[in-house]
Amino acid sequence: MVRLLRIHCSWLLLGICLLTSQSVEARTQANYTETQLPVFELHSGFWINLHHTLYQEARQRKAATSRDAGTTKSTAVVAKSVLAGKGLTGAEQKAWDDAVAFYTENYADKDLLFTTELIQLKDQLGDFEDCDELSGRKRKFCDAGLPANLTQVLEAAAPVYRRFLWPEHDKANRRWILQVAPLVREKGVGLSERLADIYQTRWPQGKIRVDVVAYANWAGAYTTVDPLRVTISSLDSRNQGPQALEVLFHEGSHGIAEPVQRAIIRECRQRDKPIPRDLWHALVFYTTGEVIRTVLTSSAASAKGGDRGDGVPANSYNTYAFREGLYERGWKNYLELLQRFWQPYLDGKATFDDAIARMVSSL
Ligand SMILES: [Zn+2]
Repeated sequence: MVRLLRIHCSWLLLGICLLTSQSVEARTQANYTETQLPVFELHSGFWINLHHTLYQEARQRKAATSRDAGTTKSTAVVAKSVLAGKGLTGAEQKAWDDAVAFYTENYADKDLLFTTELIQLKDQLGDFEDCDELSGRKRKFCDAGLPANLTQVLEAAAPVYRRFLWPEHDKANRRWILQVAPLVREKGVGLSERLADIYQTRWPQGKIRVDVVAYANWAGAYTTVDPLRVTISSLDSRNQGPQALEVLFHEGSHGIAEPVQRAIIRECRQRDKPIPRDLWHALVFYTTGEVIRTVLTSSAASAKGGDRGDGVPANSYNTYAFREGLYERGWKNYLELLQRFWQPYLDGKATFDDAIARMVSSL
């Protein structure tokens, strides 16, 4: 939904002004939803982007404050606002600073992934992306039911965000969506079926909602369940190029990986072993990476070029966990188990139950 700007025009200039106001409207709050793709529904929504930007600013400010507490005043570094140098008026700066202060006070210490309050807030802001207000004072159906002080904070920060940041954030989000869309269109259904098969379950019915945002969490992407929703940063360097497809399917896999967790727990209990932290998550990283690599490699081979046109030759595709050094940071043992016992299952040479049982017994 578009927020109309009040632009005063003389009759002579009316035509020009109308044109100008339309182009300004087009970049104010025109949320974008890609609904033509299979498997995922990709959104670039105003409020959820504002929310994550304020959260990011608040976290940075809090981190800078705690660093400063251990330094002398002369060496203290003030957290640089994402709006620094953009030429805000005093009133705009105050509205933004008040919002960041509210987020610092109420949310900066809470995790976006593990705090019910923040999960519900994110989902609500996604649901109300087509509203240009959240209180329902103009249109009843735009009453998001948020606490009054939070509504006030978001509505006061909204014009500042809309003017100075939203156009570039929305553009980055749309660019990210357009970049990943061809592969999702071409490979999405096959990938979802293959992954569901591996985890011995069904891919979730209906399309998974993905909110593309300038800033997500520390990991660059996260997924919450009930309802299953994915949040991905369009600016995070880890989510670019063909790796965007892997991030998308890794996050989507969070909705279907429960049978793996259950099987690992069952095997551990049978053997009286402690349940290994994160083995299931390492398995999900490994599996998505291998499945995506296989798909991209076979695409490149059939295209005879070896390059999908996005700058990374598919036959040298480096999976996320290798690229980001996840196995080096405490998962080395898991990688050995996955290569030895899980890979044969992916190759059709072992059963699911055997693969899990062998991994657990070798822990
Ligand atoms: Zn994950």
